[in-house]
Amino acid sequence: MYNPATGREEFIMISTPSEVAMGKSVHESIIQKYKLSRDPAQIDRVRRIGERAAKVSDRQDYEYHFYLIEEDEMNAFTTPGGNIYVYTGLLEKLENDDQVASVLAHEIGHCAARHTVKKFQAALGYDLISTIALNAIGEGTAQQIAQLSSGAVMNIVFSAYGRQDEYQADQLGIKYMYRACFDPRAAVETFKILEAGSQGPDVPLILRSHPFISDRIHMVEEEIKSLGSKYGPSPCVMAR
Ligand SMILES: [Zn+2]
Repeated sequence: MYNPATGREEFIMISTPSEVAMGKSVHESIIQKYKLSRDPAQIDRVRRIGERAAKVSDRQDYEYHFYLIEEDEMNAFTTPGGNIYVYTGLLEKLENDDQVASVLAHEIGHCAARHTVKKFQAALGYDLISTIALNAIGEGTAQQIAQLSSGAVMNIVFSAYGRQDEYQADQLGIKYMYRACFDPRAAVETFKILEAGSQGPDVPLILRSHPFISDRIHMVEEEIKSLGSKYGPSPCVMAR
């Protein structure tokens, strides 16, 4: 299957409908473990920013959903089916919509490049392959997730992406910010906020097992310089 976000042919066994069903099942585990925010203004804000960035994503074969989790930590993560979760502890630290967009666009990058579904595919491994061999279309994956304990599901959700996947999500995030008329430079500001939050013993969850932040800042700055030549002139008038 050709993946327009990575520009490569990739072997994904899980069909989109199956991935979406899997995402619903994972969501059940998440709402057992975490409290979703009930603050309509904040929920709206996250959705509005997220949907604007999702509209320009390379992957449009499912709908993206954005959820706000009531937790003090600085974190955000993505599950199969285009579900993106951000913690109130991170949202509170971000100073403007562009910075919020940088977090959400990075997560949308993981969706578009199919990093999330690949992670689940790898974790389910042999069981998944045998299920698919039995029913060819792979619709059994959602039931397979439903059979796992909620702890096992959360372990897969929080397992780290590879370093290359992180760089690629950063790169795609910058691209989507550019296309959706958010200021891509806000990604660098967000890294600095995360870095400041990681002084002391508590490294924010979002940074654990991620590449060094200085390397990510460097890569993102190079990427911002090449946006015009890679994707054409910006159609946007920057407000800042
Ligand atoms: Zn990431």
